[in-house]
Amino acid sequence: MNKSAEEVLQQFFGYKSFRPFQKEIIEGVIGGQDTLVLMPTGGGKSLCYQIPALMQEGLALVVSPLISLMKDQVEALRSLGVQAAYLNSSLDGVEQSEIEGRCLQGTIRILYVSPEKLLSGGFIRFMQEVKVSLLAIDEAHCVSNWGHDFRPEYSQLKSLRNYLPGVPMVALTATADKVTREDIVKQLGMKRPKVFLASFDRPNIHLRVSPATNRLREITRFIQDRKSQSGIIYCSSRKNTEMLAEKLRKAGIGAAAYHAGMASDKRSLVQEQFIKDDVMVVCATVAFGMGIDKPNVRYVIHYNIPKNMESYYQEIGRAGRDGLPSQALLFYTYQDVILWKTILADTQDASLRELRMAKLDRMLQFANASLCRRKVLLNYFQEVKEEDCGNCDVCLSPRETFDGSILAQKALSAMIRLRESVGLNTLIQVLRGSASQEIISKNYHQIKTYGSGREESALAWKEYLQQMLNQGVVEIAYDEHYHLKQGPWARAVLFEGRKVPLVKLDLAKSEEKPLREKVKSQAEWRAEELFERLRALRKKLAGERGVPPYIIFNDKTLDEMAREQPISEAALLEISGVAQAKLAQFGKEFLTEIRAYLVDQVQEGNSIKGGTLLLSLELYRSGKDISEIAEIRSMKESTVLGHLMQLYLEGEELEIERWVNMEEVEQVMGLLEQASAPPQGMKWIFEHFEEKIPYTSIRLALGLHEKNRV
Ligand code: ADP
Ligand code: ZN
Repeated sequence: MNKSAEEVLQQFFGYKSFRPFQKEIIEGVIGGQDTLVLMPTGGGKSLCYQIPALMQEGLALVVSPLISLMKDQVEALRSLGVQAAYLNSSLDGVEQSEIEGRCLQGTIRILYVSPEKLLSGGFIRFMQEVKVSLLAIDEAHCVSNWGHDFRPEYSQLKSLRNYLPGVPMVALTATADKVTREDIVKQLGMKRPKVFLASFDRPNIHLRVSPATNRLREITRFIQDRKSQSGIIYCSSRKNTEMLAEKLRKAGIGAAAYHAGMASDKRSLVQEQFIKDDVMVVCATVAFGMGIDKPNVRYVIHYNIPKNMESYYQEIGRAGRDGLPSQALLFYTYQDVILWKTILADTQDASLRELRMAKLDRMLQFANASLCRRKVLLNYFQEVKEEDCGNCDVCLSPRETFDGSILAQKALSAMIRLRESVGLNTLIQVLRGSASQEIISKNYHQIKTYGSGREESALAWKEYLQQMLNQGVVEIAYDEHYHLKQGPWARAVLFEGRKVPLVKLDLAKSEEKPLREKVKSQAEWRAEELFERLRALRKKLAGERGVPPYIIFNDKTLDEMAREQPISEAALLEISGVAQAKLAQFGKEFLTEIRAYLVDQVQEGNSIKGGTLLLSLELYRSGKDISEIAEIRSMKESTVLGHLMQLYLEGEELEIERWVNMEEVEQVMGLLEQASAPPQGMKWIFEHFEEKIPYTSIRLALGLHEKNRV
């Protein structure tokens, strides 16, 4: 049990280094310290209790509110060779006592428990019989009334402490607002806890907001560029989820709808298919995502704007948990805003209604921001970011604004002449001098400002009026048929020369520069191609075992494999996320696939170092000797031998002594060991042995010597 935290990280998880705070947290917990961990989704909270659990004697208890997540976590741990189990209402009595038995024997190291189970009388007795090393409370915000997900059973966890004197408690959550944070400490009765507040920035998620002028087409295009990637599209209504899924399917995209109105078995099926990469796109209401730990969701699209920043942050947070580049794309339109305002207007409690409206306004400010989006987002959560992020639409194409004061004056004056009794569309018709039935029949063509805004398209007016709305120049009366009224700044704009900066509507830009990426290099193409092959292999292996693909290896690990192209077990172990247990289970299959790919590449005439070695090996394995291989490949025999020797050095099983005199090799190695700082090159060795030992043997000796040193 005296392994260091780094050793456990490497041995079980296959990772090279800790992320910020992980190490300090782990050390504190081992020292018996109560700890509160606030980290964003995907930040790496689980390791903060899993590693202490593996470093200490006894059983670690993890309280977790969602049965589906428990199962996932346990499956993932088992695939890493960690003895873990869960106890909750999904198991029958026999299964439960079997697990308890194994805990008492000490074979299980980490036990996930639902709060109900934890508080039952029998379990408290059990807890006193096993030696509990630590108590982790996952999703700790559930203990707080202030949080967004209060669970009454959580509030009794405090009493549990009495039965576990001296056992450290570690509470973890991705909800970081100050009130909730303080409440968690209080409600759990934590003793002088150390609090770790990580940055809530998710730098790998690209943020983008788009006007919804043509969202269906943009979404279709976006997905067609990413057919093999998983994504979620959030819609505000059930109807929209179904409509959108249907349209996407018509465009040849495998999409499914998900909402609370569907039968529960249908819902679980969609969720299951999504987790297993059988369905790539889910069009869902916010009901989707809670119990899903899928790390390789590559994009989250908001078909409709969320009602506040908390929801937005939580929903986009489901993208890119594995840390790989991911996209968050928000579409917004004036209609959606009206819809939300109508819904919120029904809130009975006046102060609550005000709060909700204010939150919606903050959401709109974000959508309209001409500042770095990430700055605005983090600022909302009281985190100050000095630098622009460089990974949002604003940073990548800064907004061009112009003085829109004249446009604002035209709009306001038309509005006033219409006695503030028309809605947006009618106002635009008047401004553009439309001769529609409605306009003529109501005599609106008689007013003085009729046609004063002809130079702008209707679409442009819509966009600019929306911006004026957000700047408080105009207002919408939700309770009066959505008629437009003067906003708080209207008088200042009309009479005091207040300026109204507007962001230029650049339709060509928003349509033609969609979300395509930069030109890729050869190496990138190749990595992608290999990634797809590895992904297919992973899917096959997952299918055979009935587990989600990411349990085998996550995308980040596959991606690194595709770039590094390891061809030996030793090289595969160097890949982040490949540890002993995984190597033993899947190493062979993945190496075979990588090797086959490299050989294919060389046979197609692409020169890849690993591939050329492997092609020689393949020919050798098929019974050819070195001279024949040299003949076939038009190479020197020494080059072919060099290939085989290098593979031998990387651990390939080859009867190298068939071509190299091992006695000579040992002589050279003896010399190398004696020489404290041998001169470079092989010539001096050749001369030292009076030109009696051939260069082949010297080369192998140098290789083996080098290998022994590391
Ligand atoms: P959270 O619970 O905070 O949402 P997880 O614990 O699920 O996040 O971690 C997210 C992902 O990051 C997982 O795939 C996990 O294995 C990986 N991860 C965690 N810590 C490290 C680390 N030190 N190095 C590399 N990957 C890590
Ligand atoms: Zn930015």
